[in-house]
Amino acid sequence: MSGGVVTASVIGPLLCSVCNVRPRSRVVKSRARSTKRCYRLAVPAILDRLQILQRLVAFDTTSSKSNLACVDFLCELLDRPGVRLRRLPSPDGSKANLLVELGPPSDARRSGLMLSGHTDVVPALEPDWSSDPFTLTADGDRLAGRGSADMKGFIALAVETARNVELARLRAPLALLFTYDEEVGTLGAQRFAAEWSKTEPLPRLCVIGEPTSLGVVRMHKGHLKLRVVLRGAPAHSSMPHLGRNAIETAARAVAALGALRDTLREERSEWSDYFGEVPCVTLNVARIEGGVAVNVVPERCVIDVGLRLLPGMRSTEMIARVRAALEASIGTSPDGVTYTLEENGDSPPLLSPADAPHAALLCALVGQTEGRGVAYASDGGPLQALAIDSVLFGPGSIDVAHRANEWLPRAEFDRASGILARAVEHFCGHSSEKGGATA
Ligand SMILES: [Zn+2]
Repeated sequence: MSGGVVTASVIGPLLCSVCNVRPRSRVVKSRARSTKRCYRLAVPAILDRLQILQRLVAFDTTSSKSNLACVDFLCELLDRPGVRLRRLPSPDGSKANLLVELGPPSDARRSGLMLSGHTDVVPALEPDWSSDPFTLTADGDRLAGRGSADMKGFIALAVETARNVELARLRAPLALLFTYDEEVGTLGAQRFAAEWSKTEPLPRLCVIGEPTSLGVVRMHKGHLKLRVVLRGAPAHSSMPHLGRNAIETAARAVAALGALRDTLREERSEWSDYFGEVPCVTLNVARIEGGVAVNVVPERCVIDVGLRLLPGMRSTEMIARVRAALEASIGTSPDGVTYTLEENGDSPPLLSPADAPHAALLCALVGQTEGRGVAYASDGGPLQALAIDSVLFGPGSIDVAHRANEWLPRAEFDRASGILARAVEHFCGHSSEKGGATA
């Protein structure tokens, strides 16, 4: 790809606009408030949304790596008097969710608005990249870089919106939630939902900036990951009668799973019409591993299966159907191979109310009249455990995400900025606006 690198803002020796001294170091201690030392100005006060995106893309937040430096940067950008920042670390401390709250505390009405995005990105290992994936590169209307669409573009917009808010005018809370490990199973959002105190209310309405090309999506499929582990007995292949062959039994299990997939393909739910050419639950026999050598009867075989559930479906019921299929085919196996069925991750489907006011507002602003669903999972699934109603809405296309030369249309990025500002004004702004803070 041709085109120039977006000009970086000059990060020179900075003076704090508050205390007018040069910060001693660029180390961010955003939680440590001190009247004697300035911690705030490792970034300029006036980064525009494009510059914020440029900086965000430069952090390699591939899910296998830490996101803490990126979280530090977000804290720097957002920290100011009256803004409440909370880092919520992962179990091993290598990553963190970040919750940012502006305006009055959420109350029992749970008014206001939450904007949410995941900080992690998929690996940028494709050989076809035309430019450094971690350097935002402009080519006409295209802003290319890993995460530009999925979904640091939206994070940049959320940060910009929050920075532009006049805190004194907020009549309802504005919350930002930035998560880790969404791409590997919505793990950060699941931990947030599990650990968040139910006694601390959050806004009920949430916009998650997955790249929907500015479509408004209020439902999506889930992703349930299961693992079948088959255990036989090893033997020298010259004496097969002394062993129990786990791979041969696994072959029957795969056939049974294929038959279940065919059954699921014919079934419909009341939400099927929202899922276009794939209106059903999908089942993918994704990975199989077994055996150690050609002259050994294999003792062990592992099958990984992924199922994408439709909204309203319960994982427990689908697991029961998988178990029944396995039981019927191999449960009474005469060869003595045993198996276990393990849950290996569960991102629930999303289903927000048809009359959700944020969906209605966004639809009105973009001129969308029909409901939409998408086949991929998001943090909106786990956040339902906190009774948070999410809609997906963000610039960029899912079609270019997770690919080489991922790019964000500049025009959508700019348009989304104005739409988010309107949404925040509507749900959090001055209460005299009709349907505003108490919507
Ligand atoms: Zn995403």
